[in-house]
This record gives sequence, structure tokens and C-alpha cells, in this order.
Amino acid sequence: MRLHANDNVIITKGRDKGKQGNITRVLNKQNKVVVEGINIVTKHQKPTGAFQQGGLIQKEMPIPAANVSLVCVHCSKPTRVAYRYLGDNTKARVCAKCEEVIE
Ligand SMILES: [Zn+2]
Repeated sequence: MRLHANDNVIITKGRDKGKQGNITRVLNKQNKVVVEGINIVTKHQKPTGAFQQGGLIQKEMPIPAANVSLVCVHCSKPTRVAYRYLGDNTKARVCAKCEEVIE
């Protein structure tokens, strides 16, 4: 997965197109991400047990990783992620536009 938790991304497809948010969770197997404030659905939750109340619950649903684009922290543009090997042979993510390393 080229995206990590806490990455700032912009939504490129779907209902929330154009919005930005931080990734809160990465679902590697499904190739999906959960983005703060994006793709919120309202669920009707039935009361379960003594401690949980019923009612409306707003929940962020995962969206396909292909529908988001990383926003570079250096040039602030939506970009593709490229990879580069650093001097000590560690693989680093770099911005495809400004080529700065993205942590
Ligand atoms: Zn950049």
C-alpha cells in the first residue's frame, strides 16, 4: 500500500470528490482507506445490551485507495507516490512532482 495512516489525501472520485482529509485507517487487504470526515454514513443502531444506546450513529466507511490522491506536504499538490532508495538502501516514498521525501 502506497498510502499510510495520517497521510493527507484529496478525494478524486465519488460523492466527496475534492474534499481533503487525513487517513485514519488503512485496509491493506481490501486496498481501501478510511479518511477522516469522508464517506460518512448514518446508521440506525439498535440498542444492544444495557450499556449501548440506540439511535443514529455516523460512521466513516472505507473508500477505495484508487479514489484518493496523496497531497504532498512539501508542494501541497495532489500527487502520485514514487519510490526512491536512499543512501542507506532504505526505500522512501517521494512526491512524483517535487521529488521530496514524504514521511
Ligand atoms: Zn511535492
